[in-house]
Amino acid sequence: MGSDRDRPGDPMSDGTGGNSVPPEGRGGPAAGGPGPDSDRVARRDEAVRAAVEQGLLGPGSPIIALLDVPGIRASAAALRAAFDAVTAPGTPVLHAFAVKATPLVPVLRLLHEHGIGAEVASPGELALARAAGVPPSRTVLDSPAKTTAELREALTLGIAVNADNPQELGRLDALVGTTNPASPLGIRVNPQVGGGSIEALSTATATSKFGVALRDEGAREWIVRAYADRPWLTRLHAHTGSQGIPLSLMARGIAETYALAEEINRHIGRRQIDTLDIGGGLPVNFGSDTTSPTYAQYARLLAEAVPGLFDGRYGLVTEFGRSLLAKHGTVVARVEYAKSAGGRPVAVTHAGVQIAARTVYAPASWPLRIAAYDAKGRPKPGPDVVQDVAGPACFAGDLLAEGLALPLLEQGDYAAALDTGAYYFAHHYAYNSLARPGIHGYAPAGDGRDADGRGNPGMRFAVVREPQTVAEIVAESGGAQPSALSGL
Ligand SMILES: *Cc1c(COP(=O)(O)O)cnc(C)c1O
Repeated sequence: MGSDRDRPGDPMSDGTGGNSVPPEGRGGPAAGGPGPDSDRVARRDEAVRAAVEQGLLGPGSPIIALLDVPGIRASAAALRAAFDAVTAPGTPVLHAFAVKATPLVPVLRLLHEHGIGAEVASPGELALARAAGVPPSRTVLDSPAKTTAELREALTLGIAVNADNPQELGRLDALVGTTNPASPLGIRVNPQVGGGSIEALSTATATSKFGVALRDEGAREWIVRAYADRPWLTRLHAHTGSQGIPLSLMARGIAETYALAEEINRHIGRRQIDTLDIGGGLPVNFGSDTTSPTYAQYARLLAEAVPGLFDGRYGLVTEFGRSLLAKHGTVVARVEYAKSAGGRPVAVTHAGVQIAARTVYAPASWPLRIAAYDAKGRPKPGPDVVQDVAGPACFAGDLLAEGLALPLLEQGDYAAALDTGAYYFAHHYAYNSLARPGIHGYAPAGDGRDADGRGNPGMRFAVVREPQTVAEIVAESGGAQPSALSGL
């Protein structure tokens, strides 16, 4: 992969940095003809059809989540190729997937098999990475609230840690003592270059809670001294982005981080900082099936903005999450009822706030595209009708999409929420005790062709996560101690 021939636009432009309202309501073919994006759309359509045909989806199982395995592999390869293309030969580069984006063990294993490590930010995420077989040497621990016990475990295992603040550094001092730690250790800084279009995801504002705020009075001097006093501090970390941040701002944050590393090493008189962790945060285009910006565009932009970062003097760590997985996930939900209210058609489906909490609560920041499929799982032809796509939860705002133009959804059809592979169905919200849907990976059977060498190859599915059962919901809701409160 790594091809960006089918996507126009200047990666510096902010058009890709925000979450603009989708220009197309449904998942039509990717603009620009054949290529990885249109292949992905074709696989998705085939997977929905096959899921209905094979009974994974139907009246008795009205919602599933799907992951495009060839797509995930291709994105992992594109990420690696993009940085390989701009780094000096032999430069150590660790791409650590931000586990919070898709905290599923088989996904972490698949990425690990394709050369991608793990960035974890809680004991749970660390346990997931370990269960997936990601070795400590390919794991990075970041989090603003690490306990002493977590830090001790990470140091015992040899996992890289980025300290968030002076108090955490004090804990590391105590744990490291006079020995040479097995873990690569660094400090997270906030270059305070500013925020993007989504306040809640802007990590580099003046008052962000993350890292040491670089422009605050005395902060720079404190950091230089902190490194000078601790020969074991060999890394510097910043994560300036996430959805809604323009690439130019991300590049500026990384440039400032690089400049600080140079200053520290100059001050100390040796290359004590040997690795820069540049975080993740590449935004995802939720407006169409086009992958934009690409890793190749971002890597080239960084190489132009911060050439010294890639000349081999520094090892690199990246922490991409959303951009690796978002476009490879689809939630497909059956239309249980189709009704009309105030003259507007409303499709009541089984996908709502429980799988798309961000979209339901902040629809302007997190619009989702919806694709319409018929009862057999085939793409529904037009004409487009303005309608609402609602979820099953008992509150009025439980809408996946409001006033969206797409082919009229009728009872028994399927609505697919696109680009939901990161921060959606793996982030279940237990409203109304709605069950977590099952998640299935898919890949074309055989070589992707049928016996005649034509399309319609069939799909193979593998369970990533079983659907939550009603018995599990009861058990997780105190079902084992029904009288717990009665005797108090
Ligand atoms: C969330 C997070 C990431 C991943 O961000 P994406 O926008 O999903 O790429 C990387 N690093 C840190 C420290 C994070 O908190």
